[in-house]
Amino acid sequence: MSQTRYFSTRGGAETLSFDEAVLTGLAPNGGLYIPTEIPKLPEDWETKWVKLSFPELSYEILSLFIPTDSIPSADLKDIIDRSYATFRDPKVTPLRQTGDNEYVLELWHGPTWAFKDVALQFVGNVFAYLLEKRNAELGEGEKEQLTVLGATSGDTGSAAIYGLRSKPSITIFILYPDGRVSPIQEAQMATVPDANVYCVAVEDSDFDTCQSIVKSCFGDAEFNKTHRLGAVNSINWARILAQIVYYFQAYFLLPEEKRKDVQFVVPTGNFGDILAGWYAKRLGLPCKELVVATNENDILQRFFSTGRYEKPAGSGEVKPTYSPAMDILLSSNFERLLWYLAYDTLPAEGSQEERRAAAQAKLNSWMDELRQTGRVDMGQAVKELAGKEFWAERVSDEETLAEIKKYYNKNDKYGSYVVDPHTAVGLASQERAAKKAPTSTWVTLSTAHPAKFSEAVELALPAKEHAQFNFKRDVLPSQLSELEALKKRVFKVKGEDGVRALIEAVKRGEQPVAA
Ligand SMILES: *Cc1c(COP(=O)(O)O)cnc(C)c1O
Repeated sequence: MSQTRYFSTRGGAETLSFDEAVLTGLAPNGGLYIPTEIPKLPEDWETKWVKLSFPELSYEILSLFIPTDSIPSADLKDIIDRSYATFRDPKVTPLRQTGDNEYVLELWHGPTWAFKDVALQFVGNVFAYLLEKRNAELGEGEKEQLTVLGATSGDTGSAAIYGLRSKPSITIFILYPDGRVSPIQEAQMATVPDANVYCVAVEDSDFDTCQSIVKSCFGDAEFNKTHRLGAVNSINWARILAQIVYYFQAYFLLPEEKRKDVQFVVPTGNFGDILAGWYAKRLGLPCKELVVATNENDILQRFFSTGRYEKPAGSGEVKPTYSPAMDILLSSNFERLLWYLAYDTLPAEGSQEERRAAAQAKLNSWMDELRQTGRVDMGQAVKELAGKEFWAERVSDEETLAEIKKYYNKNDKYGSYVVDPHTAVGLASQERAAKKAPTSTWVTLSTAHPAKFSEAVELALPAKEHAQFNFKRDVLPSQLSELEALKKRVFKVKGEDGVRALIEAVKRGEQPVAA
């Protein structure tokens, strides 16, 4: 039985239960929660798990990390079943062959057509379950009502809304800049009719303004406590956990003779998806390096080639690219990997507790330096260790479009394939990596359906060169095109005061009118 507990990467000997780590999200000292140990797989996992369905496999893996006193087995099974029943593909994350030794793992068959559903469908159900369990122990009048507050530039918002819609004791407010998300993205969020969902279009704002309103609300101790604010951003441990599963699933979906020398390529932004792959490898999944695929916001690619983690020179701002879900300055989940790199490069002496504290201290000193100077050099030993498990590639906007075009025009026996720009960053990285390791089997993670990122797809396949290509007919699924005709429920507000006033009105039981 799992005994796993969780501690903060930035220090403190205290450990938390799974419940506490998930409901808290970010540690009070700014750190991220990681498990006290990486569990062992059962001896016979390879034969025992080979025929399991996605939910069955998910149960086996998740129960290694979630003690039954947090979630009893039958309840965990039920949560998992409900979470993946919303996926359109019976395999949940199916594998498509695109070359003799090349495969794409399609992670976008969930309700919002992008990979964040794999984690957020599960996290929504876990939140609701843990809250209900807590509330059952509290008296009338003490019951907790969670207010989930987040900002989105598109993708995360809809996945969070679909994860939390209709959940009892939870209200969700998603802020986005009015008029600055694509019509499809707005339609995905605003056509969800559930009464606990508030899509909030902040007038005259941009994504950064929305995000700073969210931060300010979280930072206001009084407001935070009164409304019991909760976050579902990618630093939440439960999201990483849910994503470990599809690496094992991909391994089992490969023909047996292809499983010997597998490499995963992961389009990366906040380092959540690929970190889950690293945990899969640490658990014992046989695979070689993991390939970090970045766009022109390449802080991770530069780290793996120099050992220095530093903000870009120049404006110090995010560069907007065709793969916007990977446009980041700093990668929040990277801190988790850094803790392990700090730990594994310590001198081999002292108790486990002492070593854990020494790694926390090291990580803290790195984070302080990063905050103060915008850069930190982790040194040669860390760079070499990281280089044993990862390699990294950077793909430009121009190469992204060229890759979309190349896959569309493919006329080998695996056929034409329209990919989204994030997946294209992965595929371009895969091709470069394959030159260095030609005998490997490659699995590239596909993080979104192309319909979600029409701009890049239509730029890559312009009508004058591809007269036979028709985005609406060939790419856009009817479930998405039908959304635009549905009634939208959007709450337009001005500034932080407007956001707070809306939350307060809802919490008082009023029913604000949608625009
Ligand atoms: C969020 C996202 C990513 C990046 O995932 P991380 O876990 O942040 O590395 C890549 N592609 C798409 C489509 C996304 O929505």
